[in-house]
Amino acid sequence: MPFDDDDLEAYYRRVEARTSANSSRSRKRERVVPAVQFECPTPEKIAYPTLAAVTGAILAIARQSRDRPSLRSYECKCGSWHLTSAVPRPYR
Ligand SMILES: [Zn+2]
Repeated sequence: MPFDDDDLEAYYRRVEARTSANSSRSRKRERVVPAVQFECPTPEKIAYPTLAAVTGAILAIARQSRDRPSLRSYECKCGSWHLTSAVPRPYR
């Protein structure tokens, strides 16, 4: 038991003070929800959480395959990153 009774009470008082201060100030501020999560249009694809993660996956795949598939990453509206094998447009 890490807390004895006094510590625990002080802790609860602190939490209560913080939450009551919050709720009296910013009550019903539900628009503060930061990132609205959209449903993924391609849930069958692997979702990478960050650009670094998806880039790492591309590098790993490119290392393993001989003919270097042209993989690209894009940020999905679900908030994750996916791989796509879209062939880059040829330059003219
Ligand atoms: Zn997605």
